Order: sequence, then structure tokens, then C-alpha cells
Amino acid sequence: MRLVLLGPPGAGKGTQAFRLSQILAIPQLSTGDMLRAAVSAGTAIGREAAEIMERGGLVPDQLVVDLIVERIAQPDAVRGFILDGFPRTVTQAEALDEVLDGNKLDCVLELKVDERQLLDRILGRAKQALANGDTVRADDNAEALSARLRAYADQTRPLTHYYETKGLLKAIDASVPIDRVTAELVEAIQ
Ligand code: AMP
Repeated sequence: MRLVLLGPPGAGKGTQAFRLSQILAIPQLSTGDMLRAAVSAGTAIGREAAEIMERGGLVPDQLVVDLIVERIAQPDAVRGFILDGFPRTVTQAEALDEVLDGNKLDCVLELKVDERQLLDRILGRAKQALANGDTVRADDNAEALSARLRAYADQTRPLTHYYETKGLLKAIDASVPIDRVTAELVEAIQ
């Protein structure tokens, strides 16, 4: 099964993509995680992405498309995958269609959460990371969040129309408790 999870920062994409990957036994492919790993490792890609990510912007399309093309070609993705945080622009979605080369996506799941809840969730995540002794994401703060929300509204939301016209889009209320969101996602892909 080939799935895309769409949704603004703080909607729970990472949490739900992880759960679906366990339930469906297919990998979760998160461009955010791949980029953070590149930043930590200090690779050329990481150096290019670090500053853009920190201020909450989107890294260049070609850079993430190259990451995904390489990842989708790995053997564990043959049976399917859950894309978490990709595509984020119509250009990326078109590139994905090309890469899939006729192996169509099964479903695009849009996680919908009221914007006022998002800041609480993001700041909560930062607080939790601190409490656990983990590193706080460089972009989990109010200033970067407002840039991330702008990027979502301007560049990513148009994707809902893109996938709606293809008959692939299913919207899920992601403001309810985590288990209920997972149950609704599972039902949506039956
Ligand atoms: P995420 O972990 O999905 O919230 O992504 C964290 C940050 O990584 C984003 O705010 C962007 O700066 C960058 N990023 C992740 N995925 C993409 C993408 N598909 N296109 C552009 N930038 C991305």
C-alpha cells in the first residue's frame, strides 16, 4: 500500500505514520527525519538544509525529491510505504507521480486540526523532549512554527486540491485522541 499523510505541523503526522507503519508492516518515510539525520551527520545536504529548517521554511524541491527517489528504491519499500512530510509542494507531488511510474498511490490522508491547537501541541512536544533529556527540535518554537504554518498554507495546502481531483484525498479529524485518529485512518484505507 502506498500512502501519503498530509497535514500541518503538529497535526500528528509522525505519530500516526509510525503507528500505520507498524499496523501495515510497511516503512514510514519521513523527509523531516531524513533531513534532521543529514543535519546531525553534517553532510552536504544537511549543511544546505539546516538554516532553512531552523527558520521553518521549505528546503528546495529537488533536494527532497532526490532523497525520496533513493529511499523508495530500497527493497523494504517494494511492498509499499507511508510518506510522512512529503510531498509538500505540487512540484514534489508531480515528481512523485513520475517516480512511481504508474504504480499509483492508494490514498492521501489529510490530518485536520484547528490551527489554535497546533501551537500548544508543538510547544508541548518541546517541553516533553526537554523533560526526557532529548534534544528539542530547532524549529519547535513559536517563531519557526508561524513560518511553518505559512509554508503549509501557501505551498502545501494546494496539494489537497491536487489529490482531490485525482480522487485520492480523505480528510480525517485529527483533533481527537491519538487512538481514535489511528482507528479512523485504518478505516479510511480499508
Ligand atoms: P517535518 O519533520 O516534516 O516537520 O519537517 C521539518 C522541516 O524539514 C520542515 O519544516 C522543512 O524545513 C523540512 N522539510 C521536510 N520535508 C520537506 C519537504 N517535503 N519539502 C521541503 N522541506 C521539507
